[in-house]
Amino acid sequence: MTGWDAEVDVAVVGGGACGVMTALRAARDPGLVVGVFEKSARGGCNAAISSGSLAAGATRWQAAAGIEDSPQRHAEDILRASGDEERRPVVEALCAAAPEIVEWIAGTAYPIELGADMPRAGMTAWRLHTDTGRLGGGRLMRHLRALLDGHDNTAFVDEAPVIDLAAHGSEVAGVVVSQNGSPQRIRAGAVVLAADGFAGNRALVEEHLPQLGTPFYGGVSTSTGDALGWALRMGARLRNMGAALRSGLVVVDHGTRVSPALPFNGAVLVNLDGERFVDEESKGYSSLAGVLRRQPGERAAMIWDATAMAATRESEMMRECLAARAIHDVPAIEDLATALHRTPEEAERALAPLPGRRRLTAPYHLAWVTHGLLATQGGLVIDPSGRVLGTTGEPIPGLYAGGGTACGLAGPHSDGYLSGNGLLSAFGMGWLIGNNLAIEQR
Ligand SMILES: Cc1cc2nc3c(=O)[nH]c(=O)nc-3n(C[C@H](O)[C@H](O)[C@H](O)COP(=O)(O)OP(=O)(O)OC[C@H]3O[C@@H](n4cnc5c(N)ncnc54)[C@H](O)[C@@H]3O)c2cc1C
Repeated sequence: MTGWDAEVDVAVVGGGACGVMTALRAARDPGLVVGVFEKSARGGCNAAISSGSLAAGATRWQAAAGIEDSPQRHAEDILRASGDEERRPVVEALCAAAPEIVEWIAGTAYPIELGADMPRAGMTAWRLHTDTGRLGGGRLMRHLRALLDGHDNTAFVDEAPVIDLAAHGSEVAGVVVSQNGSPQRIRAGAVVLAADGFAGNRALVEEHLPQLGTPFYGGVSTSTGDALGWALRMGARLRNMGAALRSGLVVVDHGTRVSPALPFNGAVLVNLDGERFVDEESKGYSSLAGVLRRQPGERAAMIWDATAMAATRESEMMRECLAARAIHDVPAIEDLATALHRTPEEAERALAPLPGRRRLTAPYHLAWVTHGLLATQGGLVIDPSGRVLGTTGEPIPGLYAGGGTACGLAGPHSDGYLSGNGLLSAFGMGWLIGNNLAIEQR
């Protein structure tokens, strides 16, 4: 076939979590040429604004903390939350890879610790790993990008949005990249779609997620679902398009998020009618978003005390809230009553602890929280090796997908999202695809 402007062995669409991990793993093979085509590093990727928390079961950090866990238990937690048994093979493949990935990242001189202060609903063992210092996903992505720059057989091409796939009959043969406004046809033995989901595309969100209403959008502008249409034209299938990673912890008028660990440290939610409306510990932050959407004014006051503050303030989320002055200090119950437009007695009643929970003590902290959309979770159907499957269930030759471009792990609804699923899908599938390509493309 003629008419190519350049050729690589592996063309990666998107330089975020999935794309960079795919490239890092594939590039270990010095015989492969890997091109990562990134729409806009300035526009950014969700991984870089994420908390960077990595879910993995049976790591040495867990063992050191005396925590029993396994990839199987991790997979069961995800599947219990999602109810999506059809995805079991993919979930199990990702959970099996997860401890190896965390170990590998640590082995590249990246400081990792177990988030022993990061309890999450639905997680039967403490298994979120994070960087010491809690600088979040930005630090991790800068580190991984620097590692990628160290590979001579890899090019990270920025400001180079992929605008289409190039096909040869029913096979994917490369990508069409826009560079300085001019289309370049890049031939590739394999194309990996790692362009994230469509949460930044208002029309697609309205089409697939009308139940979300008009949430605050907390993701990057680059997540516009570009890859979905190209893959559909090649015969790919979509699944679980109504699921999203949401957050019910977005601070009104600020857009920062309070820590998901607050409810586990006694924080309570009170709505504009002065009522407690949920067992705060029972809901993951994605699921909590739906509950908040149904409250008067689509918001509620989250209230906590000094003990809860001390347990959470080192998280990057709380640091951002404090820096943004998104948290109010409330000295006494009378001040809390004023903030809630209630009497002190009503405020006192609203703070009554649920059975078995501790009572908050003054002084308090308060933030008005609402629901937000962070990332979509529906996408292309893939197999456990990341190959994109067509309507017949057969892989589309030459086409892979991972991270937010692929169907996520939450099942059909946002309530099924378990903390850590997003980066697990992205880094995990990048790891599996890159490892396989290092073998297959030779
Ligand atoms: C605020 C926030 C906090 C989060 N916290 C966590 C967390 O702590 N743990 C967790 O597991 N998950 C978390 N997530 C979810 C997680 O960040 C995502 O699931 C994950 O980043 C998806 O990885 P990805 O590689 O698919 O996409 P991204 O990391 O977003 O990377 C996609 C890249 O593709 C590029 N791109 C898009 N279109 C094109 C195109 N046409 N051509 C070329 N390039 C393109 C984009 O510019 C971007 O660089 C969070 C998300 C948000 C928004």
